[in-house]
Amino acid sequence: MSKLIHLQPLFHNKIWGGRRLEREYGYQIPAGPVGECWAISAHPAGDCPVLNDEYAGMTLSQLWDEHPELFGGTAGEKGSAPGGDRFPLLIKIIDADGDLSIQVHPDDAYAAEHENGSLGKRECWYVLDCNEGTTIVVGQRASGREEFAQMVEEGRWGELLNEMPIHKGDFFQIDAGTVHAIKAGTLILETQQSSDVTYRVYDYDRVGDNGKKRELHLAQSLDVIDYAAKAPESGAVTAPEVDGVTELEANETYTVERIRVKGSKTLAQPWPFMCLSVIEGAGTIAGEPVEKGAHVVAPCGCGDLELTGDMTLIASHL
Ligand code: ZN
Repeated sequence: MSKLIHLQPLFHNKIWGGRRLEREYGYQIPAGPVGECWAISAHPAGDCPVLNDEYAGMTLSQLWDEHPELFGGTAGEKGSAPGGDRFPLLIKIIDADGDLSIQVHPDDAYAAEHENGSLGKRECWYVLDCNEGTTIVVGQRASGREEFAQMVEEGRWGELLNEMPIHKGDFFQIDAGTVHAIKAGTLILETQQSSDVTYRVYDYDRVGDNGKKRELHLAQSLDVIDYAAKAPESGAVTAPEVDGVTELEANETYTVERIRVKGSKTLAQPWPFMCLSVIEGAGTIAGEPVEKGAHVVAPCGCGDLELTGDMTLIASHL
């Protein structure tokens, strides 16, 4: 019996997507431009099937509800696992062949009130790869709501948006209220709250296959933008690497780490659960072979994890 929870990734076609998820990760993806792999998700818009024999036929949201003990809760007590009434994280790989819209996400309070009790969305990006000269948008320069609205009205995007070059291995934390956009030529591993609420500020006046522009949500965006937040100057990781582990972010929603394995390493798993994504190389986790593109959940009480091989992972936990 597997110590780890294995999931079937789900894929989403996007107008800005590409084919790298098939080409570089070997995933079987649908035809057309595919923008997102939802690798660890219990969200209703993409609830990953569980592959373990003993839980065959269940999705991650069902496993969360019926086996809370796997996630730090009490057996038989639905909703007892830490993190709330639903699996709280969502791990994605994003293949941006085109530019994503300029967007912003609400926080939990705004989403609960205006989006049918949804979670808000805090997210972070680890740059898996990017083309030479690729940029990213994180943050904006208007001093307040009125100035932001005016700059949008006048199309002063270059002045308004904080855009900077990115490099493989960069990391960006995107709090709710931060204006952001992933640009063409970027492959990213995203760790986020399990939410799908996005307010589009600007979509470059693009039209979809149906000849129509996608909906914008300027009024909601103006409500939720954090005008006081300081925009970052780069995504370079400055945290020290200690015994192969670099803490990329720690906040009240999640902690995200990069883990490098060369040979073997013991990783403690004292958390309610831990998400692990192999982003480079190959090896084993708890004796099970894994390679680039593998995503697993290490459940509560699984004990220390033995990692072997030559690989890099992104791990997250509450
Ligand atoms: Zn976003």
